[in-house]
Amino acid sequence: MESSATDAVKGQLKMVTGVGPVILFGPPGAGKGTQAKVLMETYGIPQISTGDILRENVSQGTELGKKAKVYMDSGVYVPDELVYEMAAGRLSQADCVKGFILDGFPRTVPQATWLDTFLGNRAFETLKDCRPAVVVMFKVDYNALLQRLTGRRSCPTCGRIYNVHLAPPRVPDKCDCDGSPLIQRADDHVNVISERLKEYEKQTLPLADYYRKRGRLLEIDGDQPVEKVTSDVLRAIEHGNSL
Ligand code: AMP
Repeated sequence: MESSATDAVKGQLKMVTGVGPVILFGPPGAGKGTQAKVLMETYGIPQISTGDILRENVSQGTELGKKAKVYMDSGVYVPDELVYEMAAGRLSQADCVKGFILDGFPRTVPQATWLDTFLGNRAFETLKDCRPAVVVMFKVDYNALLQRLTGRRSCPTCGRIYNVHLAPPRVPDKCDCDGSPLIQRADDHVNVISERLKEYEKQTLPLADYYRKRGRLLEIDGDQPVEKVTSDVLRAIEHGNSL
């Protein structure tokens, strides 16, 4: 029943163009990546995950990757200056002209200020016809986050995400689609997770106030089933209200 409600909302939204910037904000494990993928399909705008871009740089051994790895491995944020150059490069690409979904950026108040200035100053003419940036904040219970993060596994071949506690594969540690051995992100190990959550509380949570004061914060209950979160996110973006 829930999914047909979601489909109905999505059906209407297919008509919408020029969504503008959508910022997904919440702790690690809140479901930003999962929801970003639905939004990407619904609106036809790209998902920009700074975590994914950094991991790609690490695996390709670029200069940025070498610098970022030290921070990422210990669960702390990569310095803002490194992130700005990367974000500016990605946001300037042609697929961003009608909007984009930011997943994991901005993550500090200076990054949010940088983004406002960047979007205001750059020649983002096409974004002027779009809606103003909306910020969707996912609120999730701390214990639920721990369960999501410690249980998260992914398939290195097809990218499918599992959770050994909540959505396990049919055969332990093997992908249902292609049988590849599942992997765990290095920073999803329990000692790094607590660092990441502390970093979120200290550096990212103040962003809620930053965006609330500017009337842009839409708060969503991220503890609900994933389809319900999706329909709340879609409605919040369409109607600009918290649910
Ligand atoms: P994520 O995949 O979003 O959980 O990010 C993984 C790691 O990448 C984080 O723990 C940080 O070390 C780094 N990272 C990702 N995005 C940012 C950002 N916007 N600012 C600083 N560090 C970031």
